[in-house]
Amino acid sequence: MKKCEKCFGALATRVVEGMEVCDSCAFSLENIQCFKCQLYLPKAELVLWRGNWYCPFCINDIRMEESKAEEHKELKEPELGEGAPHSSPIRVARKRGIRLGKEALANFFAKVFSKIARIFEKKEKE
Ligand SMILES: [Zn+2]
Ligand SMILES: [Zn+2]
Repeated sequence: MKKCEKCFGALATRVVEGMEVCDSCAFSLENIQCFKCQLYLPKAELVLWRGNWYCPFCINDIRMEESKAEEHKELKEPELGEGAPHSSPIRVARKRGIRLGKEALANFFAKVFSKIARIFEKKEKE
């Protein structure tokens, strides 16, 4: 009997991918560990995702999380500013209205105060 070509310890019992290997090496050659749940599954069942292998359950989870994260992003974007493409026009108008109102009020008071100041200056000169 030949020794396993992979671990050189146990006796080779099977031929996998052209190599005579032992049972445990055959298992690790035919199965891949899921990056997330660490379960060993046949290669054909695993999915390569961003450089790591995942089982069908975990890849499902990951895709669900990703789509949730994207939904979250879309929901959050309007809060970032008026320029955000998903902003509701009403909210933008409201924000602008408040700001313009404040500015108008500030301008009004500035004008009034400068008039009063001018009146006092004149009075002091007289
Ligand atoms: Zn082996
Ligand atoms: Zn998994």
